[in-house]
Amino acid sequence: MGNKEKEPYEKVDSQYYSEWYNEVVEKSELTDKRYPVKGMNIWKPYGWELMSNIDSRTEKQMRETGHQKVKFPLLIPEDEFQKEADHIKGFGDEVYWVTRAGSNELDIPLLLRPTSETAMYPVFDLWIRSHADLPLKIFQMVNVFRYETKQTRAFTRMREIHFFEAHTCHETAEEAEEQIKEDLEIMEQLSKKLCLPNLELKRTEWDKFPGGEYTVGVDSLLPTGRLLQIAGIHQYKTNFAEAYDITYEDEEGEHRPVHQTTYGMSARLVGAIIGIHGDEKGIVLPPAIAPIQVRIIPITYGDEEDEILKYCADLKENLESAGIRVDIDDREDERPGSKFYEAEMKGIPLRIDVGSNELEDESITLVRRDEGEKREYSIEGLVETIEKEMENMEEDMYRKAEEFLYDNIVDAEDIADITEEKVYRIGWCGDRECGQNIEERTDRHILGTLYEGEEFERGCLNCGDENADAAYLCKKE
Ligand code: ZN
Repeated sequence: MGNKEKEPYEKVDSQYYSEWYNEVVEKSELTDKRYPVKGMNIWKPYGWELMSNIDSRTEKQMRETGHQKVKFPLLIPEDEFQKEADHIKGFGDEVYWVTRAGSNELDIPLLLRPTSETAMYPVFDLWIRSHADLPLKIFQMVNVFRYETKQTRAFTRMREIHFFEAHTCHETAEEAEEQIKEDLEIMEQLSKKLCLPNLELKRTEWDKFPGGEYTVGVDSLLPTGRLLQIAGIHQYKTNFAEAYDITYEDEEGEHRPVHQTTYGMSARLVGAIIGIHGDEKGIVLPPAIAPIQVRIIPITYGDEEDEILKYCADLKENLESAGIRVDIDDREDERPGSKFYEAEMKGIPLRIDVGSNELEDESITLVRRDEGEKREYSIEGLVETIEKEMENMEEDMYRKAEEFLYDNIVDAEDIADITEEKVYRIGWCGDRECGQNIEERTDRHILGTLYEGEEFERGCLNCGDENADAAYLCKKE
């Protein structure tokens, strides 16, 4: 057995990271960036399979927690979009408009959904009559459109975004608050499987979802020392219900506005996995969602070829019947070296090499993508071996990324200390002016305070007020 510890993460400087990232997303065959509209890429089969595996997991979690799947239209009429003032203010400049059909101007301009509140909520008003219709818990997986003005980047900063959104309506504020907690639990389970440790931060007032009451941003740390938001969970209270007149009749016959929440994620999950786990050889995919979990590579020379290929086919069948996603790279015109290279670039979690030694010993040589070391196992109990290795790999990937996250959170007592690309924990009194002052002076964002809260003994970094909370200050990806 080899040494299981991998070298600690090497920090990649932002410049190099971008080049590396832009290269591996294509070389690993996740995406094709040559589509002639900026910020709109093609999902290649391997990339779409990966995203679909993440979506299936999310869908299962949603159904287990009583959500139902829906699909709303893409286009939203302007007058519906304009009902919630803060929402328009927040999304206004990012909206794509459809104003014409052929040569005719449309009576009411239509917009491509940037998110679906304003598509769904006019209909919620029709769906919800009495308390018996609550809670309403639905979700959809669709593409949304936002005119991103910064440099676009595959999966993390796109203009057409593959999006998951759950919307719920409840009778009371308490039930809506319980929903937020359920969403955070769902996220936590998912992030274990995706190997994405994170901070759940209650955003500042000026950074919350437009029109909502408060937002919990779920942030993972990239090797660049910048936080990437991978999910957003939002408490709306009755803000949208009042704008869209979504009311229910309670047991006493009173009409009351519903309390709403949403939970959103996107293809950014893929971007975070690539960024956090990738290395100089390519991407590294968590076993739970990898399109191919195991790749078998026959190493054939001369007259044993047929026997080795038969041996590999049997291994494949054995693993497949246990529900493991496995393939064989039996291309005749490729050398083993280039097959290894491709399996590494694509982040396939486990590689099984089979040559004449393995054939003779009735064994396999196994290589875990995150470690790169060879280990020999008997084919006896092969399924259990593979399952155990995948489980270990998932745990190790999560743990290493978690160590990286917590090693890069630094307490700062003075603005002058804030110089590196790290996450700084600072005191903040909660005052907006103070917070924005800190952001300006440090050229960083206050990403919020931990949702579950924490003890903190320092005063506000800006005004010195002793009654301060711990806030997390970092550059945003
Ligand atoms: Zn202050």
